Parts: sequence; C-alpha cells; structure tokens
Amino acid sequence: MVVAYRHEPFTDFTVEENKQNLLEAIKQVEKDLGKEYPLIINGERVTTEDKITVVNPANKEEVIGYVSKANKDLAEKAMKVADDRFETWRKVDPKFRADILFRAAAIVRRRKAEFTAHLIKEGGKPWKEADADVAEGIDFMEYYGRQMLRLKDGVEINSRPIEYNQFHYIPLGVGVVISPWNFLFAIMAGTTVAAMVTGNTVLLKPASTTPVIAYKFMEVLEEAGMPKGVVNYIPGSGAEVGDYLVEHPRTRFVSFTGSREVGTGIFERAAKIQEGQIWLKRTILEMGGKDTIVVDNNADLELAAQSIVQSAFGFSGQKCSACSRAVIHEDVYEQVKDRVAELTKELTVGNPAEATNNYMGPVIDQAAYDKITGYIEIGKEEGKLIAGGEGDDSKGWFIKPTVFADVDPKARIMQEEIFGPVLALTKAKDFDEAIEIANNTEYGLTGAVITNNREHQEQAREDFHVGNLYFNRGCTAAIVGYQPFGGFNMSGTDSKAGGPDYLIQHMQAKTTSEMF
Ligand code: GLU
Repeated sequence: MVVAYRHEPFTDFTVEENKQNLLEAIKQVEKDLGKEYPLIINGERVTTEDKITVVNPANKEEVIGYVSKANKDLAEKAMKVADDRFETWRKVDPKFRADILFRAAAIVRRRKAEFTAHLIKEGGKPWKEADADVAEGIDFMEYYGRQMLRLKDGVEINSRPIEYNQFHYIPLGVGVVISPWNFLFAIMAGTTVAAMVTGNTVLLKPASTTPVIAYKFMEVLEEAGMPKGVVNYIPGSGAEVGDYLVEHPRTRFVSFTGSREVGTGIFERAAKIQEGQIWLKRTILEMGGKDTIVVDNNADLELAAQSIVQSAFGFSGQKCSACSRAVIHEDVYEQVKDRVAELTKELTVGNPAEATNNYMGPVIDQAAYDKITGYIEIGKEEGKLIAGGEGDDSKGWFIKPTVFADVDPKARIMQEEIFGPVLALTKAKDFDEAIEIANNTEYGLTGAVITNNREHQEQAREDFHVGNLYFNRGCTAAIVGYQPFGGFNMSGTDSKAGGPDYLIQHMQAKTTSEMF
C-alpha cells in the first residue's frame, strides 16, 4: 500500500540550517562545473564531437557543462531501441513501473539541496523558485505513480449475465518528449515519467539551454531501477533531431512543453501521415499564455497589488502562467497602479547563486534578453513606463522588472507573449468590460480575479475562459494534484499536467468482451 499523496513541502530558507545546506550544495555543484555529458541510448553512453555548451545565465563565463549532441543517425538509433524495448516494457507490471517513480522521488528528495543548487546554476533560478521546481518534480513522480496504480485495473463497465466485459488502458508506443528550460527539472521529469509509467518508451529531448539536469535525472531513473532503453536521452537541435523524430513514422505520440511557435509546428508535422505510418499520432502540447489578473472595485487592493507583482515577476516572468496583464476597475485603478509600481521597485535583481534573497535572477539567454528588451522598447511607445525599463547583459542576462501603465487592450504588449518581466496595466469601466478584455487574447492558460463580490466571482467562473482560474490569489504556482495545469485555445491541448486524467492521454482504451 502506498500512503495518500501529499505535495512536497517547500524549504524555508530563513531557517539558518536550510540556508547553510543550500550554500554548501552550491559549492559542491560548482566543483562539477564544466564536465562533459554523453547521450544515453539503451543505457549506453555515447559521446559525440559536436557539443552543446551550457552556460549559467547569471554569469555567461561559467560553463555548466558540455553536452553531447545527437544528430539524425543517433536519433534513428535511439528510435530503434525504444521501438524494440516497447515490446517488453508494455508488458511489465504497472506496479513495477510505479515503484520506479516512487524510488526516483525518494532519491531526489534525499538529494534535494543538490538538485536545487543545480537549478540555481543551470536555470538562473532564485532559491525559492529552484526549490519549488524540485518539489514539483518530486510531486509529479509521487502523483503519477499513484495514478498508475489506480488505472492499472481499468475502469468498471457493465456486463450482461452471460458475458464478461472489461475496459483497460494500454500503452501507445514510443513517445517523443520535448521539455522546456523554464521548469527544467519539474516539467522535464513530469512529462518523461508520465509517458514511461504508462508503459511507453521514451525519447527525451530536453531544452538545449538546460540539458544537464536531464542527464542527472537519467542517472536517478537508472538508480531507481529503470531498465535500459526505456528512456533514452538525446539532446540536440530542434530543427534536426526534434523535427526528425516528430515526423518519424514510428513515433506514436509527442509530449511537448514550450513556445506556441514550436508547439503549433509540432502539431502540423505530427498530423501528416508518413509512409509506413499506421496510426494517428497524439500530441500533448503545453504552450504559451498571456495571462491576466482582473481587479474589481470591491477588492482587497493590497492583495491585488501583491498578487499581480508576484505573478508577473516570479522567475522573471518566465512562466507560461505568468501575469503579463492586469485589468483594473477604473474606480481603483490609480491606487492599484501606484502600489504595483511601488512593490515592483522594491524587488531585487541579481545572481541567485550569490544571494539568498534576490527576488529575480537573469533571463535564460541572449535571444530571450533581446526579445524582452525589444518588447520594452515597444512598450515605451504603447504605454507609460512606471517601473524598470532597462537591462544589463554585460555579465548575465538581467532585466529589471518593468511595468507599463495605461496600455490599450489591443496593444502588442497586451496581446503577444513576452515571456519576461514585463507587465502591462489597463483600465476597465466595469467588471463586464474587465472580463471582456481578459478574454481578448488568442491564449487561455491562467487568470485570476481579485474581488469580494460573490456575483462577479461566479460570473468569472463561467465566462473567464482559461484553463486555470484563481480567485483572490496570483495566477502562477499550480500544485500537482491540487491545481491540474493546462490551458485553452493557443495555450495548448489543455492536457492538465498533475491532474487525474493526464496519464490516460498517454494510453488507449481497449474493450474485451467474453461470452460464457
Ligand atoms: N505550472 C506552472 C505554474 O503554475 C507554470 C508552468 C510553465 O510555465 O510551463 O506556474
């Protein structure tokens, strides 16, 4: 029997011992910097000449590691292994598969400080965010392990007196998992184990900016008893390895988290039937957001300002759930706007490895820096700059938390995903208009409403069209098993990671009917 699921608690770094532990772990991780990491295909380490150089976004000089890079030939080799291995793995007792997840969760929990320290370095995550990322990864393993135990006996259906009907979920085949850099541990691990615990074999292509943590996770899975070839680690370029595998006729499904542009590209490629392909590929796509917090006139205004600022600038706004727009009732607009500016100016930005309490670290790379600072220039044309507005990429890619006020709801910074610390504020004449503005994007991932008006709350529950709607709190930080996460429209397939039906999307149902 496994105990009931409970999410992994966060670490309190104001406790001196916890702080010292992490400082020590950061020192340890620093000793490993600059190492080489091979690919893992069928458990074998494969070193290539072509390498990905992974750097610390807070300090471009610091190389996290040199990671071997797969090409088409190696991707093909990995596909053959995964395809072969599927024939045995699909028949392995689901309990055995779930146990691997429970053991892997225990291993990561034991090495939590080390993993957190690594995320601070490789992802540029502030302490709190890195700790939450590791906790979420543990949660995914604990939660999906338990979900698999529930699903393994199928679902009850009816049988007439002379028959015995059964309804079971069986695995799909080879899954290509393409994971993001923003939740470099949690989403990478979560999407991988979901595909694997359901009896599929996996080709894991982690984000090229953060592949080292995925290698470390492979080692954890191996230590936890995962047979070789079940998950294969093949970092490489999206255009070469990613596209090749998405189009491969033996790929059965693709699980992707990342940008809308790449996600819609995968959707199209996966839809095309290739020669020799005998199925319709599934896609599980978690893409962008343009997430809004609505503030009503009858609301706790301090809570509103705090929620907006935390949701906009946690991990520098590099979450698809981040609040990038706030729509504020005109009666309270000035007050909320001033408080948001004040709180934003108090936030500190700096190298997270050097200080425990910097609220924000860097953004992930030069391309992100250029894109975000480009949007800041657009914002200067479209609204009134009331906080931040500049960056510094001399050492790492740092951008000040930036707020624009009085922005038109149709302006580019109100419509396009920036994926950085840039927030736009707009005014609504009443609550109806606020919801209308909140819904006026092509996305539909998260949103929040700050109100003390019960009627308005119920109206938003029906009409605010997002996959994750929150009341009187911020719009980020969904917890596995508590707030299943995924969005509507151009935010993706609403696959609800960390939810009760997530695993089923990696499986297909089979009905058997026997007569006596
Ligand atoms: N699940 C995360 C949250 O609720 C966001 C995930 C993402 O950015 O991809 O904040």
